[in-house]
Formats: sequence, structure tokens, C-alpha cells
Amino acid sequence: MLTLINLAVLALSTLFFIILLAASLVEREWRASTIAFFSMLGNAGLWTVFYIYTEIKFINIINILALGFLVLIAVISLVKYFPRREARDTSHIIQYDERDNMFSRNNLKNNPEQARQYYENHPEKEEGDRKLQEKPNIGEPGHTFYDPLYSPVFDAAFTYLNRTRQVSEGEKAPGTVETTPGEVTGVIKQLARYYGAADVGVTRIKPYHIYSHAGRHSENWGLPVKLDHTYAVVIMVAMDIDMIKTAPSLPVIMESARHYVESAKIAHIIAEYIRGLGYRARSHTDGNYQVLCAPLAVDAGLGELGRMGLLMHPVHGPCVRLSVVTTELELAIEKPGTAHHIEEFCEICKKCAHNCPSKSIPQEEEPQSRGCRHWSIDQEKCFAFWKNIGTDCAFCIAVCPYTKPDTLIHKLVRFYISRNPINQRIALFFDDLLYGRKKKLPTANPPQPLSRH
Ligand code: SF4
Ligand code: SF4
Repeated sequence: MLTLINLAVLALSTLFFIILLAASLVEREWRASTIAFFSMLGNAGLWTVFYIYTEIKFINIINILALGFLVLIAVISLVKYFPRREARDTSHIIQYDERDNMFSRNNLKNNPEQARQYYENHPEKEEGDRKLQEKPNIGEPGHTFYDPLYSPVFDAAFTYLNRTRQVSEGEKAPGTVETTPGEVTGVIKQLARYYGAADVGVTRIKPYHIYSHAGRHSENWGLPVKLDHTYAVVIMVAMDIDMIKTAPSLPVIMESARHYVESAKIAHIIAEYIRGLGYRARSHTDGNYQVLCAPLAVDAGLGELGRMGLLMHPVHGPCVRLSVVTTELELAIEKPGTAHHIEEFCEICKKCAHNCPSKSIPQEEEPQSRGCRHWSIDQEKCFAFWKNIGTDCAFCIAVCPYTKPDTLIHKLVRFYISRNPINQRIALFFDDLLYGRKKKLPTANPPQPLSRH
């Protein structure tokens, strides 16, 4: 009997290590590949010894202990339990003012009157902002990762995005098409996926989802945002992990720009579609938002809020880009699905915080900001780093344990992490072991920044 069990464990565990090794090789994770290879040999040796030497009492005892340990781990792995967490109290949250955003503040160098007004109200921000404003903009010469041939690639994408701002709004068609919330929501979700969304969710709009004032563009700077739409469709696209892994060098911002364009394309089409049905709708895309994407995405059931203040999707982690369509059309909201307990994992992981080159991500408890406890970063420090290197960095996204391809091995790990806190500790230990806790920052661009795709 024991011999048969040993044989079964040998076969199953070897299969596991082969899958891990194959996945690591495909992902070009050399450290993980090496560890998987030697673990496979060591594990096979151990169970072969147990299989052959069943007559030796000492080996027999260790064999039984090892099997007992495996059974214990297997049982614990399947237990679904997390202590209840206190829900975020959003009842007193203060709306975000887009004028406080670092891109808006960076633009103030071109608008002396708006700068005067802003710094009159925020004198503590003036000195630091002025220093940042003097540095070349992202995409201009003078940065660590600037390349005269490749930097204009992402700059062109952002310029194009900026030109599409005018299609975000439009007149609705006269008359309305008769439909039900369930039916039309189904079509909108299909449409989003058909055009390339990795996920899409719907939520009711709450005041804290909406900016209090516009701040990104000089023509409407300081005007209160008036958005009376009741529903939001949140569109999520997944970025290419190989491109993001080169963070913070040039491919990162190329990939970022590409997916801002992709998510904008889908949002514009959905908004146009809804207007065609006879209802008001607006698309919110990079540089043209009236709403905050991350809280909307969380409320739309797309995932949880991670330590780096970004949406953490259960499959794609933070390696995503978002756009939104808001509308007066009544939509159907799905019941919340199973919790993935990503926020609990973020509490113990802290890998993004440990690797952030500008120390912008909190290492301690969730900070209190705008009247609500939620993860948020030090945007001044983060943006200062961007302005030094000339890309949107994303090193935190690259090192996150959730930034992994959706392969069998990573599906298993995500399921394992979602069961209980002990599994989360074990998964984190192995993530550190296989992929390392501290990653090295590249100092130059890869030779062919676009060749990864
Ligand atoms: S790196 Fe860790 S702590 Fe940071 S967002 Fe990812 S899972 Fe959370
Ligand atoms: S983008 Fe870079 S600098 Fe900003 S929080 Fe992430 S790792 Fe830190």
C-alpha cells in the first residue's frame, strides 16, 4: 500500500515540477527555472528512496511523516477562511479635485494665471512643483530612457488620444430603442469583449467616483464637474506582461500608451452605441476623465484595491488599463462574485513598496486620505521619478506577484491564495524564492524596445 502511495506522490509531484519548470522557461524566469529543475530532481530522489527502501524502519518513519505533512498541507490548502474585514466607510469621502493631479500641476507651467490661483490656495506645493515643471516632459530629450527614434512612438499614441477627446461626447439619437437593463447590459458587455476588453463591469455612480473640478486642460480648468449620469461601464484591457517586465524602461510606456488607446477605442464605441439607442453617454479616457477609474472598477466588481492604489484584477493583477463610459441609460448590475482576498495578500506582500525606487508606496497600514481609509501613493515622489526617467515607470506593476500570465500554474496559485491566510503566507514565501524579493532596476533600454510584442 505504502509503495503505491509513494509511487503516486512521485508521479504527481514530478508532474507538478515539470509544469512549473516548463512555465518558468516559457516566461524566461531563469531563477524560477533553475529552482524548479533542482527541486524536481531532489523531490524525485526523495520519493524514489521512500519507494525502494520500504523495509528500512528509519526511512519508513520519515516516509510516513512526509506523507502526513503532505496530507496536512493539502487539507489546509482547501480550507476557505478569512477573518472578517471592516468594510471601507465611504460615507464621508471627499471628492478628488483633478487640479491636484500631478499632470494637471505639471501643465500649470504653461498657464501663469491658473498657476497663481492654484498656488495661492496650495502654497506648500509650489516649490516642489516648480522644480518638477522645469524638468523636461516625459517623451522629451534629457531622460534616462529617452530614445530619439522610439520615444516618439508613445508620444504619437498620447497625441492621438488627445485628439480623440472630441468624440467622447455627442448628441443622442432622437427617440429611444426599447430594451431592458439586463438585455442592453448584456450587449454592451459583449461589445466590449468583442473589441478587445479583458473584462468589463457595471456600477451605479456615487459622488466620490466623480472629480469635483476639472484640472487637466486649461480651457475648463477649475470648472466644477457636472456629471448627472447614473451608471458607469468600466472597461478593462490587459497589458503585455513581457513589455511591462522591462519596467521602467521604454517598452513600459509604449505598452501603457497602446492600452490607453485600446481601452479608449472601446469606450468611444460603447458611448456612441448608447447614444445611438437614444440615451446620453460620455466616454472617459486617458487625459479626459471626469471620474476616477480605480474606485469605479472596484465597485463594478472587477477586482480589489491594491497597495499601489491601483485596481487588482483577480487574473491580470495590476497589469491593466481602464476606461469608463457613463450614461443615463439604466443598466443591470451583477451581484458581487466570490471575494479573491487580494487586499489581504497586499497586507503581507509589500513587494511593490519594497521595490519602488522613489519610496512612494506605503509599507505600513492603509493610509487615510480624503476622509477614507484606502491605499494611495505619494504622487509627488512617483511623478518626480517619472520625470527623471522619461517613462511612466510601472516598476511596481512589474514586480507584483499578480503580474503573471494566465497559465495553469498561475491559475492554481491564484486559487490557492484566495483560500486562507496560511496559503497566502506560503505562496508569498515561494514567490520570493522563485522570483526574488528585490528586483534590479534596468539602467538602459532593451536593444529593440518594440520587439517584445
Ligand atoms: S506587489 Fe504585493 S503588495 Fe503590491 S500590489 Fe502586488 S500583491 Fe499587493
Ligand atoms: S510607478 Fe514607479 S515610482 Fe511610481 S509608485 Fe510605481 S514603482 Fe514607485
